[in-house]
Amino acid sequence: MANTAPQTASPGTAMAIAPELVRLDARPSDKAAAIQQLGQLLAAAGCTDPAYAASMAAREQAANTFLGHGVAIPHGMAADRHLVRRNGLAILQVRDGIEWNPGQRAHLIVGIAAASDEHIAILRRLTRLMQDEASLARLLTVTDPAAIIAALGAETPDVAAVAATDLAERFDWVLDYPTGLHARPATRWVEAARATGARIQVRHGAQAADASALIALLQLGLRPGDAITVSAEGRDAAAALARFRATITGLSAQEKADAAMAARRATTATKGFEPTGPVITLAGIGASPGLAIGRLHLLLSHQVAIPDQPLPLAEGGARLEHAIRATRAQLKALEDDTGRRLGAADAAIFKAQAGLLDDPDLITTTCQLMVEGHGLAWSWHQAVDRIAGSLSALGNPVLAGRAADLRDVGRRVLGQIDPSLAGGSLSDLPEGKVILVAEDLSPSDTAGLDPDRVVGLATATGGPTSHTAILARTLGVPALVAGGAGLMDLKPGTEAIIDGIAGRLHLDPTEADLSAARSFIARQAERRAREAAQRAEPAATRDGTRIEVAANINLPDQAAFALAQGAEGVGLMRTEFLFLESGVTPDEDSQFATYRAMIEALQGKPLIVRALDIGGDKQVPHLRLPVEANPFLGVRGARLLLRRPDLMEPQLRALYRAAAAGGALSIMFPMVTSVAEVVALRAACDRIRAAVGAPEVPVGIMVEVPAAAVQADALAKHVDFFSIGTNDLTQYVLAMDRQNPELAPEADSLHPAVLRMIAMTVQAAERAGKWTGVCGGLAGEPFGAALLAGMGVRELSMTPRDIPAVKAALRGASMDQLQAVAAKALECATADEVRALEADLAPAEQAAA
Ligand code: PEP
Ligand code: MG
Repeated sequence: MANTAPQTASPGTAMAIAPELVRLDARPSDKAAAIQQLGQLLAAAGCTDPAYAASMAAREQAANTFLGHGVAIPHGMAADRHLVRRNGLAILQVRDGIEWNPGQRAHLIVGIAAASDEHIAILRRLTRLMQDEASLARLLTVTDPAAIIAALGAETPDVAAVAATDLAERFDWVLDYPTGLHARPATRWVEAARATGARIQVRHGAQAADASALIALLQLGLRPGDAITVSAEGRDAAAALARFRATITGLSAQEKADAAMAARRATTATKGFEPTGPVITLAGIGASPGLAIGRLHLLLSHQVAIPDQPLPLAEGGARLEHAIRATRAQLKALEDDTGRRLGAADAAIFKAQAGLLDDPDLITTTCQLMVEGHGLAWSWHQAVDRIAGSLSALGNPVLAGRAADLRDVGRRVLGQIDPSLAGGSLSDLPEGKVILVAEDLSPSDTAGLDPDRVVGLATATGGPTSHTAILARTLGVPALVAGGAGLMDLKPGTEAIIDGIAGRLHLDPTEADLSAARSFIARQAERRAREAAQRAEPAATRDGTRIEVAANINLPDQAAFALAQGAEGVGLMRTEFLFLESGVTPDEDSQFATYRAMIEALQGKPLIVRALDIGGDKQVPHLRLPVEANPFLGVRGARLLLRRPDLMEPQLRALYRAAAAGGALSIMFPMVTSVAEVVALRAACDRIRAAVGAPEVPVGIMVEVPAAAVQADALAKHVDFFSIGTNDLTQYVLAMDRQNPELAPEADSLHPAVLRMIAMTVQAAERAGKWTGVCGGLAGEPFGAALLAGMGVRELSMTPRDIPAVKAALRGASMDQLQAVAAKALECATADEVRALEADLAPAEQAAA
């Protein structure tokens, strides 16, 4: 495969700044001119293609590159990395400053050309420099480029830290979580490390962290592709390390699935609201979709002065322990309450926060400061501030989110030490609908918000993966994050429209824009309410054709939620998760118990269980399968099942035993490529069914490779049904890795080539008198579902949350209309043309918008 990325030099040398790339006393007329100048400097020095300037300008539309304190860091779009020939920095010193965004003036503008994550190092230096305002101010008047080069080029002490040594037992691993080591997986690492009883260390380059210390782990700032060495010592170190390895590598599949889903959602998100009148717009990052109108309420972080009142060390230690214990109980209560109101996933945020309280660094630093003679509250506050500060300074949005969590927990403990120190509150909200503007919000503030009063959130810092953003999404409150320090200078009471999709805050909108926004909001709300109200009803087109809508769930305890969302059964139970999550191979009896529990939880509704689909993105470390160069093209799914009877047979026995005990169970095989495979799989089913004495159950296959779609005629003779896996079918038809975030916008299941494969499959099944379902991601998109139904798909299975909107889309048209749109889609040349057909199906009120 051709590698278009230029070579990256080693850290430290990669970002060396040449004097000709520093322009002193530059006087660009505005932001666009500044970006143009930086583009010219970088291109002239051979760092980038001249087109890189346009890419930097495009990035400004998508994100805010103003760092604060007069520093901005324009850089190109990720998709344009091929325009970078070698890493480089160009710097404009603009003494009078230029307006970067409304209310934000940039004086030092650092254009970054980086083919990899090299800019992290420079961000680290910049954020450090920004903490030293005097040095930063000096750089604005210096007349020698060397001063700027020295300030930005100097290595920081922690980068040059002394190399840590590994412990006795070790293994190397390259982190493959697409969003790096963020708090959720890190919490699992900590739990796993503690459960082993051995000492486990994670090293990245010269930095090492104890795997049982959450903050230390997060401070490594691990990004995808980072090579780490994990080592252990102590009792049974080798076995402990093997268990730890199984946990951390076992999390990869879920992390990848989450990231791919997020990328797909981002590219398929409907366009946000566009004001037409003169309006000042502040840009941040959209963190929770939706549109809302309200008056700004600024939550100023009260800089509560923390008194430094020394006290006897023993008393300080005891009070600290008591405060931490009380905070832990408070977080447990919050976890339970949030679990009841918003669900287990959101409640887990507070579990992760409680994990921060166990961090040895936090306790040690507090104690060291008390030993030095400082008071308890002061020492605790300092320790939190130092560690949170070091997390934020890494310039990594994931870690910025953890810093907010740490400060939140820190404030709770402080409130336990002395209630008067608990800090700012939300108790003084003005009357009416409010858009809350804050430097950052704590997860507990966010979880406690009343969404009827607080209709939007805008924070100056934070990232879209912060817990606040996750909670805002669950509460359905539109939010933007990383809006920049200028947010905090806005006038309280200003009327504004917040757009959580585009990440925009439109200030003082005109009456016409307000009225347009109101109708937009009303239409969205009506649509959602209508969909929710009718979620339990069947999905039938206007002329009465029923489409079965089912859920993709993996565990029996997810069934109740799926049914409540309107699921008419389970169209895909991915059994590999039973293997991935437990860290062991579940035996026949425990699988039987799980399948029975699922059948019972579904109260008579049909269940399709997919036999193990291991391989590709779903690696199961404890099976120790051979490493493959191309796992997606390797021994996965049916290919593995046929080679490993020790895996397939207990599963089929458990399934047939479950079927014999009653219920509507079907068996489905993944990743089938040939007739020979189906014949062999069916023979195994028949043999095991006879041995167990079970009734016949429908046996189907997934159609997810082009060979199966093209040969659907031949395959249909041997199966009872097809279920199309559009996630894999898309990746194999388009030859685009389903996990590659860079390709996510193009790896589009609406590509006409994919649609034609689907149509071939459905038609072949119909000719053979068999039915076809779809259980890949396309089934969960309302327009995708409508197209599939128009092509003749009779069952759609999806994430439970998607069910109400999909059912509504199916009810919105007649089968004739769906078939006409599907026929047009098959004739389209591009995915964009297909997407444009959505307008043909838009309900009248949406088309009028
Ligand atoms: C698919 O490929 O579309 C599918 C449903 O299977 P999985 O996502 O589990 O590979
Ligand atoms: Mg698949």
